Amino acid sequence: MEFNTKNYDYLIVGAGPYGSIFAYEAAKRGKRSLIIERRAHIGGNMYTHKEHGINIHDFGAHIFHTDNKEVWDYVNQFTEFNGYINQVLADYKGELYNLPFNMNTFYQMWGVKTPEEAVAKIEEQKLAAGLTGTPRNLEEQAISLIGTDIYTKLIKGYTEKQWGRKATELPSFIIRRLPVRYTFDNNYFNHRYQGVPVDGYTAIFEKMLESELIDVQTSVDFFEHKDDYLAEFPKVVYTGMIDQFFDYKFGELEYRSVRFESETFESDNKQGNAVINYTDAETPFTRVMEWRHFDQKADEGYTVVTKEYPQDWERTKEAYYPVNDERNSELFRKYRKEADNVQNVIFGGRLGNYQYYDMDQVFNAALKAVEREFNK
Ligand code: UDP
Repeated sequence: MEFNTKNYDYLIVGAGPYGSIFAYEAAKRGKRSLIIERRAHIGGNMYTHKEHGINIHDFGAHIFHTDNKEVWDYVNQFTEFNGYINQVLADYKGELYNLPFNMNTFYQMWGVKTPEEAVAKIEEQKLAAGLTGTPRNLEEQAISLIGTDIYTKLIKGYTEKQWGRKATELPSFIIRRLPVRYTFDNNYFNHRYQGVPVDGYTAIFEKMLESELIDVQTSVDFFEHKDDYLAEFPKVVYTGMIDQFFDYKFGELEYRSVRFESETFESDNKQGNAVINYTDAETPFTRVMEWRHFDQKADEGYTVVTKEYPQDWERTKEAYYPVNDERNSELFRKYRKEADNVQNVIFGGRLGNYQYYDMDQVFNAALKAVEREFNK
């Protein structure tokens, strides 16, 4: 079968942020790309659609946040952001706490009112748990940072259902994604720039891909004709799972998946906040999003509420999170080394690089790849 009938310079596998930025930048330089996407839509996990004027994030809440001015300016070329600041609540068996871990949380948990009292409380719990050395896993890291009470009520249950394994078997970096601060500040992120696009994320991709030099084919699986694609295109940008690219020859990398259940209500406000986390072990979902609270433009009288359920990953399900524990990191290094020998393929994105990337990190990685490719 002939695929490269238009003499494309690039075949890009995946229409998520990495592939789309690459195609956009290639087009700016007069290069032609064909993007093939297994799913029926562009935008990868950033894809959003509108219901009752509300932007629904089909693959879970996406809040753009970054300290990288270059990335922030870059994404702002394609859209306007609404200034949304993420402030998450935790519901533990009916008790409500502010996240991330800050003076409001410490007050709610212990009644302490000053940073000094909060530090003393955490230090006492950390010592009682016998934790003085370098934390060896997520549990030890969490207790060292915020003590046993918060670990037990707000972290253990959520983490173990989110990842499907014990907190003692998870890498400590995962919990360091969340700020710990001794001020009364509920901003979920520490970054300087933050927001959600006024018109949803899909519009960003529509703009990125509008060039005549870019063709997009959705619902096309690279693996149906992998060898032909590789033979016919001078260069391939691959953003799928790296282990699948190599036919799992060293074994399968592990991923964690999630699924979503949405309901529409004739109401303006069901839960009063964009995100509420359910941090006990028994509730089967981890968080509930009410999308209208992410933007301000929703139609009156309707609200859409979505529950997020973690689930095991298998080949028929979407791979959301790489599991960057030692076994998988070691396995990834083997695939990465193998990838170094494939001259005409660039591997990128959350799945191609097996990294727990935030959106800004994917943007940054794509821009770096563009630099390497075109400033040679
Ligand atoms: N986490 C937790 N309790 C919470 C929220 C997060 O224990 O209420 C832990 C959990 O292990 C999670 C990690 O912190 O996987 C990172 O949370 P984040 O909100 O950054 O996860 P994401 O939005 O990427 O799924």
